[in-house]
Amino acid sequence: MRGNLDAVIVGSGPNGLAAAVTLAAAGLKVQVIEGAPEIGGGCRTQELTLPGFRHDVCSAAHPLAVASSFFQRFDLAARGVRFAKPEVEFANPLDGGRAAIVTRSVAETAARLGADGRSYRRLIGPMARHVDDICAELLQPLRRPPAHPLVMAGYGSRGILPAAALVRRWRGAEARAIMGGAAAHSMLPLNAVPTGGIGLMLIVLAHGVGWPLIEGGSARITDAMADAVVAAGGSIETGRWVRSLAELPRAAAVLLDVSPKNLAELAGDQLPGRYRAALRRYRYNPGICKVDFALSGPVPWANEDCRRAGTLHLGGTFEEMAIAEAEVVAGKHPQNPYVLVVQPGVADPSRAPAGQQTLWAYTHVPAGSDVDATDRIEAQIERFAPGFRDLVLARAVRTAADEEAHNPNYVGGDIAVGMQTMKQTVFRPTIQWNPYRTPIRGVYLCSSATPPVPGVHGRCGELAALTALRDIFGIREAPDISPARLRLAPNVPTSPGPPGATFRSP
Ligand SMILES: Cc1cc2nc3c(=O)[nH]c(=O)nc-3n(C[C@H](O)[C@H](O)[C@H](O)COP(=O)(O)OP(=O)(O)OC[C@H]3O[C@@H](n4cnc5c(N)ncnc54)[C@H](O)[C@@H]3O)c2cc1C
Repeated sequence: MRGNLDAVIVGSGPNGLAAAVTLAAAGLKVQVIEGAPEIGGGCRTQELTLPGFRHDVCSAAHPLAVASSFFQRFDLAARGVRFAKPEVEFANPLDGGRAAIVTRSVAETAARLGADGRSYRRLIGPMARHVDDICAELLQPLRRPPAHPLVMAGYGSRGILPAAALVRRWRGAEARAIMGGAAAHSMLPLNAVPTGGIGLMLIVLAHGVGWPLIEGGSARITDAMADAVVAAGGSIETGRWVRSLAELPRAAAVLLDVSPKNLAELAGDQLPGRYRAALRRYRYNPGICKVDFALSGPVPWANEDCRRAGTLHLGGTFEEMAIAEAEVVAGKHPQNPYVLVVQPGVADPSRAPAGQQTLWAYTHVPAGSDVDATDRIEAQIERFAPGFRDLVLARAVRTAADEEAHNPNYVGGDIAVGMQTMKQTVFRPTIQWNPYRTPIRGVYLCSSATPPVPGVHGRCGELAALTALRDIFGIREAPDISPARLRLAPNVPTSPGPPGATFRSP
């Protein structure tokens, strides 16, 4: 790095890199320090099972990347990142070969819902037509007055309800399963608020922007951001875990892509007792146990339409999923769990050797669990795809405890870095007007423990960086992050090297 540093970013997840991109675009000298041997945090792709099988280690479905104003301005397409679009956005298989199928078209989806179709169209249709407005509101801190009050009143008046209340309007198992499968992403019990809002948001995204995969794997998003940082003169160091703020190189601003728990550890006594106590009160979700499979062929779903789905929610009816999720919150490992599955091969054949497939699956488990849930996950897949086990060539398993060991942000295996209760949706991680500032001048939190929501959209990192630009550097205008300003430099390494490697601009 030439000359003095302006900003140090700890952590190279999508939010850490979004912060680095924003600061670098403003002309600052930035350094990213990553503890893991490779960059990307929750947005990476690796050969986890067998050679030639490229698995998304964490994020796989990317509606939020499409909807994100950060990634729109950054222009992923111009940087060679392509969205791979499945014909069916998501599906909920049911017993007896039935399934609820969600495609981009609200009308087509509703047409399969029998007597519930009309009500589904009336609830979801208007929101899907205003998906851009809804996303613009939901991907910014909720403390701001909405720019689209009527649209948000429509969404908010329904979204404030628990999923269990929203589904009362439907009698058929299919429509109810669609809401249950989407709302259960929240890891909250389905009779809690705001599970209805989270379910609605994910359904509206499926119709409005789709739930695409990334051609070649989610690491392509990470690589595009890392390339832009390096091309702008920044550097990225891997394999260096930061244990204290005192270890960091001197810089006017420090942005931390870490959990609230880790923030307290890194800053220690520098933080006032009240703020530390608030960080201790921050509540985390249960964890996940993830299994990646290398398969000799596509999953033989009993329902043909499920064979075209990018994502599947397994667990059966709304009631079954509600019981499973309540059991997890009560500290149990359900026998009949809710399982999230992504089959990238339906839209991106590059992930496995010809004719073969990768499969991504996880289930919710109690926080910190070291239980390997492979048998339960496989039993749930077998229930809807008899013969599945015969296709398995290899497996890679991560328990909730492993998730935290690989990435300290995932406290107890909580991949959302904090519950999305109403309070922690609006005030994240503590109650304060600007959630990115910490009480230490020049130190900011930029991880998904800050608003707006967890997921790969980069907005937490961008909004934290904009706060730092205003506070420390007197820059009030959002920098231009488009390829016109942050061009790719030729020959920039696009994938990380060995631990301790440092990438600099050529
Ligand atoms: C299994 C799984 C599946 C998911 N599926 C999806 C999905 O399909 N779609 C979606 O949009 N989102 C998904 N997510 C969520 C998404 O990955 C996260 O919300 C997102 O990555 C958060 O980005 P971040 O930058 O805040 O943190 P992270 O991506 O977690 O990155 C934090 C980085 O900081 C590093 N770090 C932390 N502490 C230190 C330290 N002290 N010193 C040095 N480095 C440190 C970590 O090693 C890590 O690389 C999934 C997550 C997981 C784990």
